[in-house]
Order: sequence, then structure tokens, then C-alpha cells
Amino acid sequence: MRSAGGGRTVIENCAIATMDAADTEHAVGHVVIEGDRIASLGPGPAPREPAGDPPSRRIDAAGHLATPGLVNTHHHFYQWLTRGLAQNANLFDWLVSLYPVWARIDEPMLHAAARGSLAMMVRGGVTTAMDHHYVFPRGAGDLLGAEIRAARELGVRFTAARGSMDRGAADGGLPPDFAVESTEGALRATEEAVLAHHDPSFGSLLHVAVAPCSPFSVSTELLRDAATLARRLGVRLHTHGSETVEEEKYCHERYDMSPTAYLESTGWLGDDVWMAHCVHMTDEDLAAFARTGTGVAHCPSSNARLGAGIARVPDMLAAGIPVGLGVDGTASNEAGELHTELRNALLVSRLGPHRARALTARQALRLGTHGGARVLGREREIGSLEPGKLADLVLWRLDGLGHSTIEDPVAALVFGAPAPVTLSLVGGVPVVEDGRLRGVDEEDIARTARAEARRLARLADL
Ligand code: ZN
Repeated sequence: MRSAGGGRTVIENCAIATMDAADTEHAVGHVVIEGDRIASLGPGPAPREPAGDPPSRRIDAAGHLATPGLVNTHHHFYQWLTRGLAQNANLFDWLVSLYPVWARIDEPMLHAAARGSLAMMVRGGVTTAMDHHYVFPRGAGDLLGAEIRAARELGVRFTAARGSMDRGAADGGLPPDFAVESTEGALRATEEAVLAHHDPSFGSLLHVAVAPCSPFSVSTELLRDAATLARRLGVRLHTHGSETVEEEKYCHERYDMSPTAYLESTGWLGDDVWMAHCVHMTDEDLAAFARTGTGVAHCPSSNARLGAGIARVPDMLAAGIPVGLGVDGTASNEAGELHTELRNALLVSRLGPHRARALTARQALRLGTHGGARVLGREREIGSLEPGKLADLVLWRLDGLGHSTIEDPVAALVFGAPAPVTLSLVGGVPVVEDGRLRGVDEEDIARTARAEARRLARLADL
């Protein structure tokens, strides 16, 4: 298949799910891309270019579905090196057994882990990635810089969420004391990261968010000051919230409040905030999210892996809460892919107590595209295929063994096996062609990650 990237590219003869506000779909249609933007799209073949214009590159995408690129809203890249551990633990036991290993991480390890995490996702149709990194051991090098470098190598749009932990076990927190930063140090480093890397321009490839880790690993002071800092710098806020019953118990015992009420008391509800998980939410919690426009990163596989529970996504959507999908770290979702989360979000929603309003295939795809764009504050740029938006687009091959007998292409993509990606574009530039990553060597990524995982295991006496 011929490449897009630069100039004018026409993709035609494919089904299109635009994910625009009207849910417009075309059984057979075309998309015209000029530079990094979508110029036009519609049913049937593309109109011929005006006489005298240079010829367009034309891509015959018969047998494919075109969708917006997938948007991941929650991840921890470093966990690529600690997959398959604590296989039967719940969140708190899993964290306690892994913190001492994670506290050994350094810059080459994070670079290798980020390349592995990103390669896996990009190969599966992710065009906007994010990472929430919150373990910063002293002397570990430029950890945030390592993952930003990896995102650049893969060519993917990226939100780096500068995390932090300042409440170790001595202060009643869950992480060991050697794994946490000082409150002042975390705030200073976060501000420096925003000033050094955040690019707010339309079409930016790099955002930075402010992201203290969780209510049980961060002081009230850090939460409060981080919210103030993010608003002063004009960037978004991210954290974990209401993930497990143990977290709920912790907040009630320590603050006499639910996690949502506690986070609201520290300035952490708002349309510039998104939180991972939000599994244990009361009607009042959901109302508070809806009232303030706070977003949710729904991570169905991770929630299942750690036995956390089933988030009330249908209720969130009914209340108008922005919801995107998240892989979460690959120590709690070893698959590390987002397109499989479309299916898992759909299936899990049908197991919960809200199955009467369970998700449809199109709602699941919306979570993974437009929903994610809203959660990251980028819905004017990405998340749907519309003229003027960035050409972040995926061609899923649906005429092969796995999908050819499913007539509805969106159902084939969401209910079916993970579909092969024939082409994935970020701002019109190919990052995947014929199922292979462009510009990076997958075997080298796998080899390097394994070597770094073994080095980490040796250092941590695993
Ligand atoms: Zn997480």
C-alpha cells in the first residue's frame, strides 16, 4: 500500500466511521488529506483534483474500515519491564510487592520500556498516547526525557503526565519511603517539565500534564499545590481515583470522605481534570463529575486483572461525563494494546449491574477515539474524521480470515479479533504500514526491552 505523508493523499473505496457528532458513517467512501489535515471526506469516490493541480497520491482501501486514530488516556510505560508479576494480587498487595522493584528504574530502562509500550500500542492503531510516570528515584537520570524521546521515535502524538509521590509509609502512605520525592522537589520538577516540554499549539505532538499519583501515595498539600500549579501554567491535571474498595476505605478512615469528595476538597474536580478508573462511584460522585466536567479514563482490562470492579460507564455517558479508554500499565494489563480494550469495554459493561444500558459497539469505538480526545482536551484537533481536523486516521483490514463474514464493519472491529492495521497516520504521516511500524525496528525494541527487564530484575533481586 502506498504511503501518505505530505502533499495531497486520497484514501478511497473503504467504509468510514467518522465518529463526528452525528455518528456519520459511509459504507463506501473517501477521505482527502492535505498536509497534516483532513481536507474533505464523503461517500463514494473522491472527486478528481482540479485541472492543473499536481496529481494526488491515491490509496485504494477496499476491504478496510477507516476510523479516527485511537487515543489512549492512561498508561505507565515503565511497567513494560515488570509484566507477569504478582499475578493473583489485588491493587494494594500488587503495589506493595512491585514498589521496591520500580524504585530501581533508571533512564535507559524507561527508554526501553517506553519504546516497547508505545510500539505495541501504535501497531494496534493508537495515534495519541499518554504516560503517567510517578516513580522518580534519586539519580535515575532524565526519565521524562526518555519517554518523550521514545514517543518522538515512534512518531506518535503524546501527553506526558509528570506524576509524583510524596507520602511514604512513614507518613501513612502505601509506597516505601525510598520511592517517594519531597513535596517541594516534586512540584519544582513538575513545573520544570511543563516549561521545558509542553507545546499547546494546534496539532502539537507533545503535551505535559500535572499528575500526582493517587490519594494514598500523595499528601493533601501536594494535591492542592499541584492543582494550583497546573492552573497557573494552563495544563491539565491527571490522577488515579476510586479504583478499589481498599482506596475507598483508606479515604474514609483518613479523611472521613469518599475519594471523590476528598479530591474535590483539594481542587481536583474540573473540566481540566481526568482520572483513571473511577470504579467505585456513588450517584453523588457521578453527579459531581458531571457538574464539573471531570473526565474518566476507563481501564476495563486492568480493573479485571486486579479484581477492582466494573466502572459505571453507561451511567457516566448518560450523565454527560467525558470518558476515554486506557490500557493502564502493563504490569496490570500485560496485553498492552488499546484496540482490544474496545472489545473489553463492551463485554465488561454487559456483565455489570447496569447491563440494561450496556455499551454498543459504536459507543465503545467512540470511547476509544472521540471520548479520549475530549478527556485529553484535544477534541477540536483529533478524535473524529472531519474537515479541518488533524489527519490521525487508521485503516483496519476487515476482509481477512478474522472479519470477512461480519457485514457491519464497526461490529467487526469491536466484537471481532484484533484487526490488522494496514495504515496508521499521525498528522498525515504514516506510523504503521502493512502492519509494521515505520522508522523503528520491532525486533530491536523487543530485544532491548528484555535486556533492560533482566537488568532491573537483577538489581531488584527478583
Ligand atoms: Zn494506573
